Amino acid sequence: MGYHVEIDKKSGFCSGVIQAIRCAEKALEGNKKVYSLGAIVHNNEELRRLQEKGLNIIRHTDLPTLPKDATVLVRAHGEPPSTYAQIEQHGLHLLECTCPVVLKLQKKIKQEHTRIKPHNGQIILFGKKGHAEVVGLIGQVGGDALVIENETDVNSLVFTGGPVSLFSQTTKNPEHYKATAHQLRKTITSRGLDPSLLTVFNTICAQVDNRHEELAHFARNRSLILFVAGKESSNGKVLFQTCKSANPRSYAIENPEGISQKWFRSGDTVGVCGATSTPLWLMEQVAETVRNMP
Ligand code: SF4
Repeated sequence: MGYHVEIDKKSGFCSGVIQAIRCAEKALEGNKKVYSLGAIVHNNEELRRLQEKGLNIIRHTDLPTLPKDATVLVRAHGEPPSTYAQIEQHGLHLLECTCPVVLKLQKKIKQEHTRIKPHNGQIILFGKKGHAEVVGLIGQVGGDALVIENETDVNSLVFTGGPVSLFSQTTKNPEHYKATAHQLRKTITSRGLDPSLLTVFNTICAQVDNRHEELAHFARNRSLILFVAGKESSNGKVLFQTCKSANPRSYAIENPEGISQKWFRSGDTVGVCGATSTPLWLMEQVAETVRNMP
C-alpha cells in the first residue's frame, strides 16, 4: 500500500546522551575495558551496538570484582558521592559522563541544602523514587531530601515550619511539575504555614521541557504515531503520554518488530518519533519498515 512516513526531526538523543555515548566510544577506541554503571542509554538496540564494541554494563555490586585497571563510566544520570568513593577505593579509573545539566542540578541542590538547613529547611524532589538520577541527586545531601512522585504524595508530607525548596528530576513532565508545585503551596497554606516559605526551582531540562509541546504538535498533525523507545526509558514513558493525549492513535514500540499491521488504515500519514534515548538510526529503520509494508 505504501504510507506517507515522516520522522520527527526533533526526536532522538538529547545532548547529554550524545555526549555519554561519544565518551564511551572514544574510550572503547583505545581498547580500554569500559564498564558502564547501569545502561548508558535506555535503549536495548543502541546498547547492543555499544556492547558489540566492547562496552560492559555492570551494577554497583560488581565494582569490587573489576580488574584494577578497569575504567568505570558514570552515565548521564549521574551518581551519588558514595559511588565516586567506591571507584577510588577499588583503584578504578573514572570516566565521568554525567550530563552537565544534571551536574549543575546536583550542585544547586547541595548549595540550597547548605543554605536552608540551618533554618530547619527541607528539600523536596519531584521525581521517580529509585531512579538513578534521583539517587544521584539526593546523594548530594546525604539523603536528606523528600522525594514525591505526584500531587497525592504532597498530602502525606510533614513540614518542619522552615523554608521548603522544591526541585524536579530533569526529565519530568513540566505540566505535572507545575501542578505539584501548586498543590504543595496550597498544602503549606492549609497547614497554617506561610506560603512564601516555598521556593520552586525550574529544573526540568530545557531539551525535555520543549519536547512536550513540539511532540504534541507533531502527533496532532499525523493520523498515526509510532513512538519508539526502550521499555526502561522513564523519559520515554512521559513523552509517550504526551503523544497519546495529542493523538489517541499513538503506539509505543521498541523496534520495527513491534509494529502491527492492524493499526494502519488506508491513507494514513504516519509519524515516527521517540524519546531522548532513541537513536535516529532506529527511527529510520521503523520508517523504512512502514514504507515497505504491503
Ligand atoms: S534529558 Fe537533559 S538533563 Fe537529561 S541527559 Fe538529556 S540533556 Fe541531560
